[in-house]
Amino acid sequence: MRVKRLAFVAAFGLLAAGCGGSDAGNEAEEEESAAPTVAEEVSFPEGSTMAELNEAGALSVGTKYDQPGFGLLNPTTDTPEGFDVEIAYLIAAALGIPEDGVTFTESVSANREPFIQNDSVDIVVATYTINDTRKELVSFAGPYYVAGQDIMVAAGNPEGITGPDDLAGKTVCSVEGSTPAETIRTTYPEVNLVTTDVYSKCADQLKNGEVVAVTTDNVILTAFVATDPESFELVGNPFTEEPYGIGLALDDDDFRDFINDVLEDAYESGAWAEAYDNTVGAITGTEAPEPPSVDRYTS
Ligand code: GLU
Repeated sequence: MRVKRLAFVAAFGLLAAGCGGSDAGNEAEEEESAAPTVAEEVSFPEGSTMAELNEAGALSVGTKYDQPGFGLLNPTTDTPEGFDVEIAYLIAAALGIPEDGVTFTESVSANREPFIQNDSVDIVVATYTINDTRKELVSFAGPYYVAGQDIMVAAGNPEGITGPDDLAGKTVCSVEGSTPAETIRTTYPEVNLVTTDVYSKCADQLKNGEVVAVTTDNVILTAFVATDPESFELVGNPFTEEPYGIGLALDDDDFRDFINDVLEDAYESGAWAEAYDNTVGAITGTEAPEPPSVDRYTS
């Protein structure tokens, strides 16, 4: 049986206190959505991560707290909301764990690998690009979404920026420990890159005129623009591919395969599209795209 609940989609800049980012008001859009059905009478191989988590009735998840649409802390409930959060709930439900058994920890870009490696969290669902460097430290299920690096500028695009080549000699903000920061360092070294720990601070710097652009994944930037269109504009010319995976302990292949199965079931049942529509889609006004194929061999 699917349990009805009210999801408060933080569509208008409900950014966590201290994270800055938007002054566009605090209205939450109330939407009805269905919590994922919690699996009953599931049995998992003895000694598997799935069995351990199921027995504990608890799943610990690292996610973002300042990214509208993906993971944004609702200060009223003290719980993050967004697409990544919904993906975590789907995984928990398949493990037989209800939403109140899921605990979230803010995982900024730079602490995702360490949090998995030192067991601070069971999984990371945090706009987390699957790549070879990270795959040496953690394993990934997915991808469950494919973004691309883009650029956000001040509304009206006063510098006329059309792509990364136009950023040469300009001061641009991104986040430490992110693939977009790494891409700028390695491929566009003429850019004067400044980094911080979270994207909402980059958005603040753009608003204050301290930087001329923010660079990260298009879908993250689109949500910032949607929450404050008077301040921001998306260039809309993605120049990398960023497949989002669910980070888990290195070489826990059974757990990775289990999560891949959960994703495929959610693609099939429409639960994935519903999660997108209620979160990213509600903020950006976009329809759920075709889900990417789950890549269980290389991730
Ligand atoms: N997807 C990119 C990454 O994993 C950028 C977004 C982020 O920093 O969370 O590094």
